[in-house]
Amino acid sequence: MLGLMQDQPLLISSVLEHALQAHPQSQIASRTGEESTHHCSYADIGRRAKQLANALTTLGVQPGDRIATLAWNGYRHMEMYFGVSGMGAVLHTINPRLFPEQIEFIANHAEDQYLFFDLSFATLVEQLAPRMKSVKAFIALTDRSRMPVIGVPNLLCYEELIQEQSEQFIWPILDERVASSLCYTSGTTGNPKGVLYSHRSSILHSLALCTQDGFGLSSADSALLVVPMFHVNAWGMPYAAAMCGAKLVLPGAQLDGQSLYQLMDDEGVTLALGVPTVWMALQQFVEAHALNPAMDLQLNRVVIGGAAAPRTVVETFERRFDARVLHAWGMTEMSPLGTVCHLLPKHRDATLEERLDLQASQGRSLFGVSMKIIDTTGAELPRDGKASGHLLVKGPWIASQYYRAEGGPILDDAGWFDTGDIASIDPDNYLHITDRAKDVIKSGGEWISSIDLENAAMGHAAVAEAAVIGIPHPKWQERPLLVVVLKPGKIASKEELLSFLEARVAKWWLPDNVVFVEALPHTATGKLQKIKLREQFQDYYTALSGSPKKHIQS
Ligand code: AMP
Repeated sequence: MLGLMQDQPLLISSVLEHALQAHPQSQIASRTGEESTHHCSYADIGRRAKQLANALTTLGVQPGDRIATLAWNGYRHMEMYFGVSGMGAVLHTINPRLFPEQIEFIANHAEDQYLFFDLSFATLVEQLAPRMKSVKAFIALTDRSRMPVIGVPNLLCYEELIQEQSEQFIWPILDERVASSLCYTSGTTGNPKGVLYSHRSSILHSLALCTQDGFGLSSADSALLVVPMFHVNAWGMPYAAAMCGAKLVLPGAQLDGQSLYQLMDDEGVTLALGVPTVWMALQQFVEAHALNPAMDLQLNRVVIGGAAAPRTVVETFERRFDARVLHAWGMTEMSPLGTVCHLLPKHRDATLEERLDLQASQGRSLFGVSMKIIDTTGAELPRDGKASGHLLVKGPWIASQYYRAEGGPILDDAGWFDTGDIASIDPDNYLHITDRAKDVIKSGGEWISSIDLENAAMGHAAVAEAAVIGIPHPKWQERPLLVVVLKPGKIASKEELLSFLEARVAKWWLPDNVVFVEALPHTATGKLQKIKLREQFQDYYTALSGSPKKHIQS
């Protein structure tokens, strides 16, 4: 017997309509680089998203067409999130930090019909336009007075495009399973692969963000999205914020510590979301200027994800900002959220030190994400917090295949997706990511977690950032090498760092050597680019019988 409830598809347009009815005056603050911070309301976003939908219709955009963006976090990008997906097209957010060749590949692979871009990417667009075969016109996200002078023949102006259009648009009633947005993930091997989100998956995922064990997002929040809107739909936050009426604060291209601090102060930010590297920069700015964020800011939660949250970063947020860290884990293929670290009632009396230990965990899975760990034979491992194995996930906002089935099937016979991460799960369902499978260090038949070692090294007061990589070793197969960036003006010797680590990790985990570098390489999404480091230092230990390479200062 079927239930007798109304059957309404879960559509992104319905989120916008709800925002228009329930909290039209909630704010969106953005830095566009055009003026001082721009403020508008959900009512403005809704009106202009409808004008955009009309403009796209006039341009002949068909359901399912891919509409690309090369844009920072800003209100016009937000309008596209709702206007493009709402009218039935697919919003393809391209990561501008990728190499131009990768962007070209992605736009051609997706067969993007139109490309909307921020002014800071005008030169890039000029360079790539002749090679983007399917793109019919390039639209600068600006007004007429700021139009770039570039050699792109089919160049349009966003404000002109939408200004003549009606503010009325009847959103089509789509099948909730149709595609709403597309984001390519840059795998380390082969070409980037497209993850194609649906209206249904985006809405279910956003509902999870609003739960208390998710990000606890509500109308009381002012949420700073440092996480880019060109990466996994900014972790789903634009939809979730529109759902609950949270104020959104969009920082544009200025992601340095000073700009973020100022924005947090100006816009009364209560919740901020980003990868560890941006928080390190913010904290260094606070330290260098002896600021008092606990007094200055209203920040009370910081979501850290995309890479393991270093303990020192968590501690600084706790002590100096008086803000709780929500350590979260997920991936592009998971929309991205899988787990969030919240404490349980039994941890109520935990000391700060105990809390920091607990927060090293990536947290507990939300409803909608099933997870398990398996060994190399495929046998499920116990959830005892000790066994470590390949982490598999399943759920309604997890990819079933890549766009155009690139790379072939990605699920096993029972529908599980292999995340490529190595992890343990404890009896309370807390996940602990040991490493990416390809980054874990195999030493003498045992595994060493590069994440745990990096975390320990970052606890040293002189260390700004640390990476640990496994380097081929004549006797042990691989041994860890610690690569360190020191804080400006600080010094620490190799011996000092190793003895600092000795007190914190098992003896056989100790890196065999330490090298100091000016900067560490990062991927387009802010993760340590360990492949590059491994290439750079691959002969380090095999050559150690001689002396370390010249360019290495050890
Ligand atoms: P991406 O799809 O580019 O967002 O990368 C997803 C991968 O980032 C995951 O599979 C993890 O390896 C890593 N990752 C994301 N969040 C965390 C976290 N909190 N701790 C450790 N690794 C993480």
